[in-house]
Amino acid sequence: MLDSLRAITQEVNSAASVRSAMEIIVQRIRTTMHTQVCSVYLRDPQGDFVLRATEGLLPESVGQVKMSLHEGLVGYVAKRGEPINLENAEAHSRYHYFPETGEERFTSFLGVPIVHQREVLGVLTVQQSHRRRFDDDEEAFLVTISAQLSGIIAHAEAIHGAEEIDDTGVDLRFKGVAGSPGIAIGTAVVLSPQSDLSSVAYQLCSNIEEELSFFYTSLSAVRNDIKALGKKLSNRLSVEERGLFDAYLAMLDDTSLGREVTDAIKKGVVAPYAWSRVILQHANTFASMHDPYLRERAADVRDLGSRVLGYLQQSSATEKTYPNNTVLIGDELTASVLGEVPKDKLLGLVSVKGSSSSHVAILARAMGIPTVMGAVDLPFTQLDGKLTIVDGYRGNTYFNPSDEALNEFTKLIQEDQEISKHYEALKDLPGETTDNHRVPLWVNTGLMADVMRSIERGAEGVGLYRTEVPFLLRDRFPTEEDQRKIYREQLAAFAPHPVTMRTLDVGGDKALSYFPIEEANPFLGWRGIRVTLDHPEIFMSQVRAMMRASQGLNNLRIMLPMISHISELETSQALIQRAHSELLEDGFDVELPPVGVMIEVPAAVYQAKELAARADFLSVGSNDLTQYLLAVDRNNPQVAGLYNSFHPAVLQALQSVVRAAHSEGTPVSICGEMAGDPGASMLLMAMGYDVLSMNSTNLPRVKSVIRAISLEQAETLLARVMKLTDAETVAQYVDIELKKIGIRDRPEGLETSR
Ligand code: PEP
Ligand code: MG
Repeated sequence: MLDSLRAITQEVNSAASVRSAMEIIVQRIRTTMHTQVCSVYLRDPQGDFVLRATEGLLPESVGQVKMSLHEGLVGYVAKRGEPINLENAEAHSRYHYFPETGEERFTSFLGVPIVHQREVLGVLTVQQSHRRRFDDDEEAFLVTISAQLSGIIAHAEAIHGAEEIDDTGVDLRFKGVAGSPGIAIGTAVVLSPQSDLSSVAYQLCSNIEEELSFFYTSLSAVRNDIKALGKKLSNRLSVEERGLFDAYLAMLDDTSLGREVTDAIKKGVVAPYAWSRVILQHANTFASMHDPYLRERAADVRDLGSRVLGYLQQSSATEKTYPNNTVLIGDELTASVLGEVPKDKLLGLVSVKGSSSSHVAILARAMGIPTVMGAVDLPFTQLDGKLTIVDGYRGNTYFNPSDEALNEFTKLIQEDQEISKHYEALKDLPGETTDNHRVPLWVNTGLMADVMRSIERGAEGVGLYRTEVPFLLRDRFPTEEDQRKIYREQLAAFAPHPVTMRTLDVGGDKALSYFPIEEANPFLGWRGIRVTLDHPEIFMSQVRAMMRASQGLNNLRIMLPMISHISELETSQALIQRAHSELLEDGFDVELPPVGVMIEVPAAVYQAKELAARADFLSVGSNDLTQYLLAVDRNNPQVAGLYNSFHPAVLQALQSVVRAAHSEGTPVSICGEMAGDPGASMLLMAMGYDVLSMNSTNLPRVKSVIRAISLEQAETLLARVMKLTDAETVAQYVDIELKKIGIRDRPEGLETSR
């Protein structure tokens, strides 16, 4: 049965649509289990369970038979969230007869819930006409297959919702994770990675004849390429391998795959989309074959498919234009995509993968772009050009909104703008409590655009300049001189205020296209200081560029990311000193800047005192510290609910770092996203953090909190929450305090989860 399970999973994975995924599921399960009926019911947006595919019941009943949680055996399975195995289903009090299914002939019933992320997505059933109880092995098989398939079903809906999304549906809502606050209404632009068969956007072509001729030309170009390659390699290839080239060429024949694609184009879709659908269908057919040799050919079909797709995408790549109100949507948006769309045209972001602590979300917050992350069920390939609402407060995305929804969200945008205006008035006032305790509020930057915003918002320094951002937006390493110019702009813009430049922090979810790092566990791998100490030439050119950029301004501070060993600090300090001496020898009149350490991993918390004794300052990176303390991947939407910086363990670590730093007389700041959370800022101030550094969007909000509370009040709150045992209760205490001091930082009714 394990083989069957693997084969079914693979087939469903490569199905071309949700419908065909469902059909494969019911066909294969019915055959494997030798039952008469296998059906899948999926929950619709109203919460009813609708028959979506069946083998054995009347095909006409698909889409017609529907039951609520309180109806029928399917509803009962969904309600209990457990398998129900009945020898005589008709005798059960919840049995409900649906004449349209012709169901009375089937007396035995086994139903298992399809559960994804604690929610019942649907129910998988098998039925038999003669009375019998499905045995334990059968039940275990169905439970196993349901668990395997739940993610696939959720994801299949995300990728292939084509048939379900049409222009008549309104207010289609998809849930995700709040990534960056704010609301945007705009036009969806789907970003498809090159050559990825599963993420090609569904688009209609403007001229069918032209699209066909473009497809023919591309196909014959690919055919010529393959022929030329075959010829070039002919004396190195075995007979079998040469056969493969011939098979590829045959597949690309006009009468074979090509024919199916042109049929689809004639119906009006663009060539890349038509091609990807046909290829996925064929790969799927191969994958479901019994003969292992033929099954392996599925990979060949996919491989050929991606090559041709890349060709189609490149050849049609006229300069991509973005509407003025672009909402960028993709399977996995990364920090580098932010550079692709002109800033004034980018209104919102929605990513299927990733979470609120992913770097793209952090940058989006800095840029004030409403963002939803981890929208795992989003049928993103089908949404290009659709009217979209991004609710970055609650993590929802809406498509085809009704007029009522549009009106409601337009009002919320206005309310949001009024709140922002209110904060603008605080620009020139200090971050000072009602009992005169001064808290320096600094900003985190990465782009030049941040600098302008930060200065407009009255930032008093930069607590974290993410130098990797300019590296991410290029296609090669910047030279020392390139870097010097970029850093000079930052330093000059803020002088005489200090600018804390972090040395290159790549790895994890920040990959440079020109320096790929492939690892099984990227967040536990070659990241931050580990990379740059292994490449001293990169480190040296960066710190040289920083010191040269600061010449005459002398407002530079250098900060080291991901320090987990004292020796990493010592080696970095030695390299910085060497770079400094070399610069002096080269005739540059530069100062040796203060060098600080980021506290981002538990080891650094435990050695904070030793680090503080050796460094000029400490700065807590609470984004990573939360991830590593709670063992929750900051980038994984599956566990986003567990990622919470109000977890008492995180709060205790934060408090102990301040004590350790101050015991050595070393200043300590915090530059993770937590510092920009209005509620958290009260706790951090009370803990004794010397500086809070945050994205410029949140700075005015935090300032309004600091100005509304006394240090004494904040200390009382901290003393209370430090006794609590769970993050949710901490968040409640903090929210109550915010209400008490009259802070309103978002339109009414838009509560976010932290
Ligand atoms: C952090 O980890 O808190 C931090 C500021 O660094 P980054 O988010 O860039 O990893
Ligand atoms: Mg970090």
